[in-house]
Amino acid sequence: MDADVTIIGAGVIGLAVAEKISGSFSNIFLVEKYRTFGQETSSRNSEVIHAGIYYPQGSLKAKLCVEGKNLLYDYCRKFDIPFNNCGKLIVATNDQEVSVIEGIKTNAAKNGVELNVLDKDQVYALEPNIFALKALFSPTTGVVDSHSLMKRFETNTLNNGAQIVYGSEVTGIRKIDSGYEIRLLDADGNEFSFTSAVVINSAGLTSDRVSEMAGIVDEILKIHFCKGEYFRIRPPKNKLLKRLVYPVPHQNMEGIGIHVTIDMGGGVKLGPDVTYLDSNIYDYRVDTSKQEAFWRSAMRFLPFLEFEDLVPEMAGIRPKTQRPGDPIRDFYIREESERGFRGFVNLVGMESPGLTSCLAIANYVHQLVINSK
Ligand SMILES: Cc1cc2nc3c(=O)[nH]c(=O)nc-3n(C[C@H](O)[C@H](O)[C@H](O)COP(=O)(O)OP(=O)(O)OC[C@H]3O[C@@H](n4cnc5c(N)ncnc54)[C@H](O)[C@@H]3O)c2cc1C
Repeated sequence: MDADVTIIGAGVIGLAVAEKISGSFSNIFLVEKYRTFGQETSSRNSEVIHAGIYYPQGSLKAKLCVEGKNLLYDYCRKFDIPFNNCGKLIVATNDQEVSVIEGIKTNAAKNGVELNVLDKDQVYALEPNIFALKALFSPTTGVVDSHSLMKRFETNTLNNGAQIVYGSEVTGIRKIDSGYEIRLLDADGNEFSFTSAVVINSAGLTSDRVSEMAGIVDEILKIHFCKGEYFRIRPPKNKLLKRLVYPVPHQNMEGIGIHVTIDMGGGVKLGPDVTYLDSNIYDYRVDTSKQEAFWRSAMRFLPFLEFEDLVPEMAGIRPKTQRPGDPIRDFYIREESERGFRGFVNLVGMESPGLTSCLAIANYVHQLVINSK
């Protein structure tokens, strides 16, 4: 075999996995179609370190988010990655929302996440510029500089002796005795192939296609592109908020509502919203006609906000296995021996909280690789 382990995709998850695996195995390849890391979903998200509040008890999302959050804070301290453990408020702005707050607190407690119920005055003491009848405060939520995080993963992976092959797209995977043959197309249009005992599919938005290349075709692995758009709050009103502020979420968790996130540079953005795309096309345009809807949604808890305070920011695409209207789906992380694909590890549907969970996912995948040997 040319490689012991090949990881496909240098987003935050593929990089975290590559760092972990290269720490204990040799002969590791990380293959990425762009000329550098993090050009897709990992650079188009809210950069929130989620607490793990909403995910169903016992799900991988709940487990890996809570574990990953703690690992991520420790990692940021160890490697000087900028982060801000600013906390988050979930605000109830009417009686119906007040009535769901206790349920959210109970679910969070099942996941081992502490939330504090705040009355109106306590909310005012923390964030005097927002409106809430009642709120939940999550002290462990924060934000992280995801670019610095990915850069550190890349550096550590290279220092561990792994090879990162940028500008090379995986175009085919064939099962062979004791491993896989992987076909690549490089940026100059040259095709070549190599063999690897283990393959880790961390290809984000096209992870379903990469899985199909190997021969694993399953409707439950089908990715549905689900766009999230953001608007930025113009200065100086960005200075009126110090913490993340979220509304009470939708029932089926397609998204957690248009919310306020703070970035490491002090900017404040609203979003993301939730729009399933008709087909899996990379459509990162921000629809400026949504400004009115964003403004109306946010002004319920940001009374100072005026329509003109918003400017279009950016969009990201969630790699959802959940179809529109379906109940929440878990991360799909499996070593595929049961389907006859020993040593092939699929990571599919790695939407939020994938950034928060990346280090816990890396540990989980590392164990799957050890068990498959
Ligand atoms: C709008 C939005 C907001 C979010 N907010 C948060 C948040 O606040 N907190 C949080 O924890 N998570 C959040 N997430 C989720 C988080 O961004 C993702 O879980 C995470 O970035 C996924 O990382 P990844 O490495 O799996 O995928 P990606 O970043 O998509 O990386 C996959 C990589 O694979 C490469 N690739 C694909 N196919 C091939 C191929 N055939 N050959 C070679 N390379 C290939 C791609 O080029 C890409 O670089 C958000 C996501 C979205 C869309």
